Order: sequence, then structure tokens, then C-alpha cells
Amino acid sequence: MLPEDPGSPICSAKGCREAAVWVLAWNNPKLHTPERRKTWLACEEHREHLSAFLGARGFLKDVVPFAEWSAADR
Ligand SMILES: [Zn+2]
Repeated sequence: MLPEDPGSPICSAKGCREAAVWVLAWNNPKLHTPERRKTWLACEEHREHLSAFLGARGFLKDVVPFAEWSAADR
């Protein structure tokens, strides 16, 4: 049986295998149209690190709990 597991996404931080609980929505105005959203996933531990990285570049638009994000996506 294949493990179909869309409910267990993994944190985007390098080397991290934790389950993601946050979605960081970001946009690079040099590459993306304003309404476009790229997303990174983050576990509890890396949320701050990843959002600081995006925030420092002015890319960060939104930080949303993963459950909320996937609910809004449907
Ligand atoms: Zn992580």
C-alpha cells in the first residue's frame, strides 16, 4: 500500500525532517507578479529562522498555520 500522506508535509529548512506546521507565503517582486505566492513549510522550530530569512529580503507576505492554509486552499 502506498503511503498517501498529504497530511504530513515536511519542513523546508535544510536538513530538517520535522512535520511542517506553518506555511510561509512569500513573493520576490523581481521574479514574481505581486499576487503570486511561493510557499515554504516550517516546523515549530524553524518558523522563526525561515521567516527572518524571507523578512530580511522583504519577501515575506504571510505566516499561516498549515491546517488553515490547506483548508483555505480547497
Ligand atoms: Zn524544521
